[in-house]
Amino acid sequence: MADYYDVLGVSRQAGSEEIKKAYRKLAMRYHPDRNDSPDAEAKFKTVTQAYEVLRDPQQRDLYDRYGEAGIRRGAGTGAGMGGFNFADAFDVFMREFGGGSAFGDLFQQRRRTGPRRGSDVRVRLRITLAEAATGVKKTLRVRLLDRCERCEGNGAEPGTTPVTCSVCGGAGEVRSVQRSLLGQFVSVRPCQECGGDGRIIENRCDECDGQGRLQRERKVSIEAPAGVSSDDFLRLSGRGNAGPKGGPPGDLLVAIEVEEDPRFERHGDDLIHNLAVTFSQAALGDEIAVPTIDGVSELEIPAGIQSGQALRLRGRGMPRLRGQGRGDLIVRVLVWTPTRLSSAQREALEGLAPLEDAPPAPDTKEPGFWERVKQAFSA
Ligand SMILES: [Zn+2]
Ligand SMILES: [Zn+2]
Repeated sequence: MADYYDVLGVSRQAGSEEIKKAYRKLAMRYHPDRNDSPDAEAKFKTVTQAYEVLRDPQQRDLYDRYGEAGIRRGAGTGAGMGGFNFADAFDVFMREFGGGSAFGDLFQQRRRTGPRRGSDVRVRLRITLAEAATGVKKTLRVRLLDRCERCEGNGAEPGTTPVTCSVCGGAGEVRSVQRSLLGQFVSVRPCQECGGDGRIIENRCDECDGQGRLQRERKVSIEAPAGVSSDDFLRLSGRGNAGPKGGPPGDLLVAIEVEEDPRFERHGDDLIHNLAVTFSQAALGDEIAVPTIDGVSELEIPAGIQSGQALRLRGRGMPRLRGQGRGDLIVRVLVWTPTRLSSAQREALEGLAPLEDAPPAPDTKEPGFWERVKQAFSA
């Protein structure tokens, strides 16, 4: 076996926190519930074994001095590495990260006996803001492990049936009783003979080589409800990877990605639209058509509106995903100053200039003033 420090990618001076962090990262990457590549199980076991030694100061010291031989010699602690197997690796993993951690639910199923559940599959669904407003049904192509039809998922060649494991009697787990001064300990671990399945396939299915599932591309129809945002994901229960050897399927997790719409800024259920008006529209008032997420709406611009002032169209924002009704459409009015003037325009403005009143001093205490200044300069 390779050097334990190399396996975890840490230096020989690494502290216990660093070692634990490195192990966590690698274990997450290679955990067979998350990684379907054929060598994931072996890698998972290797990193766990390295971690088991380096996390324990006594074992680590022995390893530093004598290498792997030191670990075997020190096996009196009961943590002899010679027989370190897959079930041990899972025990270590669950001990470190299982109880109460966010990952507990994801991995707990591994310790149950019988056919394992398939893993969850994550996909991304891109939709436009307008689609998010109405809700949308889309079809995605998803690569996943699908149940093998030839063997109906049980992994045995048609006409044959898996036999009950003689080691565990079909229970999928092996109990051993150890006596010590403190009493009797019963330890339960998955049966190694059958891998915890309780059954052994003697004639493997030709199509799936006994796995009961095959990599395949599937069309999946997904319905995104009205009001979804990029913070949401959908869980399609039972639409993920088929479990090995007839195990129940995992879920399909759909991360929603709502594209930016240049017309709107989204703030929760509210939408903001920037509307440029001319000086005379701002001064005299006007009625202007503004875009909404599902069409256009006439908006009354009151006479004397100031640049940066907001008008609200109630209920013209995004539908509320959780709850009733819709958010608002907020129209931010920006007064546009012409940069080139025709001679007629110049003449009209020159006629206006002597009649104008001096503007009042801007109220710098008004909340949002700097916000507006920043917007003005970034535009
Ligand atoms: Zn098959
Ligand atoms: Zn067994």
